[in-house]
Amino acid sequence: MKRIRKIRVLNISQISPNMKRITFSSNDLNDFPENENGGYIKFLFSKNLSHNKDSVVRPYTIRKFRKKNLELDVDFAHHSGNQGYATKWASQTRIGDEILISGPGLKQKINVNSEWFFFVGDMTALPAISAYLEELPKSSIGFSVIEILSKNDQINLKKPKNIKIKWVVKSNQNEDSNLLDTVRELKWLDGNPYIWVACEFSKMKSLRDFFQKEKKINKKEMYISSYWKSGLNEEEHKVIKKIDALEWVG
Ligand SMILES: Cc1cc2nc3c(=O)[nH]c(=O)nc-3n(C[C@H](O)[C@H](O)[C@H](O)COP(=O)(O)OP(=O)(O)OC[C@H]3O[C@@H](n4cnc5c(N)ncnc54)[C@H](O)[C@@H]3O)c2cc1C
Repeated sequence: MKRIRKIRVLNISQISPNMKRITFSSNDLNDFPENENGGYIKFLFSKNLSHNKDSVVRPYTIRKFRKKNLELDVDFAHHSGNQGYATKWASQTRIGDEILISGPGLKQKINVNSEWFFFVGDMTALPAISAYLEELPKSSIGFSVIEILSKNDQINLKKPKNIKIKWVVKSNQNEDSNLLDTVRELKWLDGNPYIWVACEFSKMKSLRDFFQKEKKINKKEMYISSYWKSGLNEEEHKVIKKIDALEWVG
């Protein structure tokens, strides 16, 4: 059982129209591990902070942990419509508010010895992609295709100079934005790539088919995960995700 920590909102900043960065601090973070940027924690949304029973659990990426100051940054993508606990909490929270977290969960190891890299994701994956790009060797080459909600959601990424970023703005008219099309259009490089994908469930499945069936990428050479599913809340998404993982043939 992972340790439960109580953390406090220290700062809130809007880093783009649809992305809010919340910085937390707490003495409870004094044994929080370093080098987990890009991994994840779980927020426990509960009316009662003294126990975590019956809480609603939502996974979020560790964007950055600064051990020296015991500060933890988490970036919350905004989504409208039928808002869930996490998004509502992030839109209403104030400096000084307290919340429980568990984790960190197991961080995905990137094979840095790969010949090139291909990162694909939407705004929920942008914090993880940003963290991983910061850690890649400077000589790395490859692409990252990122779906954003508006043109102004483009942010500056610290990255190896030969990792090229393609921003794709999600269309309101067409739910199927051209994320897959953009990935498909990029010139495939020589050598063995490491593939990292996280986004909405249906889009993840199309991307998985592309990489696995068309590009013949071995299951072991990719991390491919759904971070949410359109029309389902996280509890429902988790069920579908588990079934899909069992059915996925490598
Ligand atoms: C390992 C991991 C790391 C993640 N890291 C981050 C992160 O750093 N930042 C981040 O913003 N998200 C991240 N996510 C995604 C986040 O956990 C989900 O988006 C979560 O469902 C949000 O919870 P909620 O309570 O707002 O909505 P829920 O109660 O889960 O869902 C309510 C409704 O909103 C819809 N919905 C959920 N998410 C989105 C979305 N992004 N866009 C549009 N509709 C949506 C659902 O389909 C549902 O209809 C991560 C997920 C995983 C698995």
